[in-house]
Amino acid sequence: MPATAATEIRPLETVGHYVDGAEVPDSTRVLAVTNPATGEVSRNVACASRDLVKDAVTAASNAFPMWGNTEPLKRARVLFRFKELLETHEDEIVALITNEHGKTLDDAKGELIRGIEVVEYACGIPELLKGEHSPHVGPGIDAWSQLQPLGVVAGITPFNFPAMVPMWMYPIALACGNTFVLKPSEQDPSAPLYCAHLLTEAGLPDGVFNIVNGDKEAVDALLEDSRVMGVSFVGSTTVAEYVYNKGTSNGKRVQALGGAKNHAVVMPDADVDQAVSALIGAAYGSCGERCMSISVVACVGQETADACVSKLKDALNGMNIGDGTNTSNDMGPLVSEKHRERVRRYIDLGVQEGANLVVDGRGLVVNGLENGFFLGPCLFDEVEPHMRIYQEEIFGPVLCVVRAKSQEHAMQLVNDHEYGNGTCIFTRDGEAARYFAEHIQVGMVGVNVPLPVPASIHSFGGWKRSLFGDHYAYGPDAVRFYTHRKTITQRWPSGGVREKSQFAFPS
Ligand code: NAD
Repeated sequence: MPATAATEIRPLETVGHYVDGAEVPDSTRVLAVTNPATGEVSRNVACASRDLVKDAVTAASNAFPMWGNTEPLKRARVLFRFKELLETHEDEIVALITNEHGKTLDDAKGELIRGIEVVEYACGIPELLKGEHSPHVGPGIDAWSQLQPLGVVAGITPFNFPAMVPMWMYPIALACGNTFVLKPSEQDPSAPLYCAHLLTEAGLPDGVFNIVNGDKEAVDALLEDSRVMGVSFVGSTTVAEYVYNKGTSNGKRVQALGGAKNHAVVMPDADVDQAVSALIGAAYGSCGERCMSISVVACVGQETADACVSKLKDALNGMNIGDGTNTSNDMGPLVSEKHRERVRRYIDLGVQEGANLVVDGRGLVVNGLENGFFLGPCLFDEVEPHMRIYQEEIFGPVLCVVRAKSQEHAMQLVNDHEYGNGTCIFTRDGEAARYFAEHIQVGMVGVNVPLPVPASIHSFGGWKRSLFGDHYAYGPDAVRFYTHRKTITQRWPSGGVREKSQFAFPS
């Protein structure tokens, strides 16, 4: 069956919602879920109505008093079991990701492992929630602070990491004592639903974790429900800004992570072979559909640029592209026909804008998978900052080379860009690297590391229009995001002595 943006009911399996510990089949309105490698509709996903979202928030609200009062150690034990179940069912989860997203099995496994690392971090919640205590802040007065859960929190996630990005959110939110409603991407909803079943199997009480599938209607219902206290969003900048503005104006705490245009700077002293090898994976892995993908290489000096372009070209010719289930492939298809068309339009535009298309992947056909959403790797040289292919996020297998005059010039390009998610520098010069790390206006920086996705003990987030809000995702920032700080100042008057009223400010 060809891929369509179907909204009618089809006689196919429909991915439902997960409310109060059970799947809820709600298919008044459905969308098609396609296998991007074949272009065939494999199942449908139900789109939650406002009433269904209300039911999910009610389930989460009802579960909150019990879960919020459960000892952190007991909450951690559920997460320990969840981690074990994720490992036991790795093959099933990875297969679902590849089937609906299209990325290779290896890549899907990498995503799952990075998600599990956040679960492992969340298992340390008794330590992470330890407050601060100060005896004798005044005569006979002690003070301490403690972190308390917000209540019901929601997560809204993109298609590109269907298992990992939700795991940036719910393991820590749950560990902190919140209850959760997840709205995964409608393009690949099966992996998160599978994980919801594993949470229940791990002993998570019903209603603590819920899923509403669907689109804008479900998102708006979450943003308008006064019982939702916090919202974590990851997706494109336009929607991130919308979610942030609407959520905060409705009194919610919101963190909204948006799009990116990540630059790699290659210095004249860099090991170019090493840099190119790293760049190929960082630019074309997952078909460039990563918010940390490198999409621009700023080469310092003409010689560096010539060497990089020539080696990139050679490396691209050796890439294997095809079905993500074939382990010899380096790159699978894009997620949808609509997205492939959007990326193609950018390639056409780059040519019109005058950039030099050194490698053109538009004509790629994968034998036997002619209806799949494949696009070969593309490489543009001589890209200029005024071009739209430089300014806008393409989110596909397209790398733009910009020729910079100096390190300062390359850094200025990065700093002037509206996005500030990730960046990296390739160099052998410690001083240049230190200067770069210190002065670059970007949230996550690599030195000879092309994808500087922070380990789970740190936090993930960008600057500028890559993040709306004050908290990064996962790591210590997530503990702060998902909790209220409460500071208690306490005194137990002794000896029955009644003191006079004090009108001066206590000091
Ligand atoms: P998207 O913004 O289209 O969708 C994200 C979520 O928002 C989905 O759940 C979707 O259903 C919902 N949504 C879409 N349109 C909406 C609307 N008008 N109103 C309310 N909700 C809406 O993003 P995507 O295409 O799924 O994912 C790709 C984008 O995500 C890229 O821009 C990428 O850079 C970004 N991303 C960012 C990060 C990060 O950490 N900064 C990580 C992963 C992906």
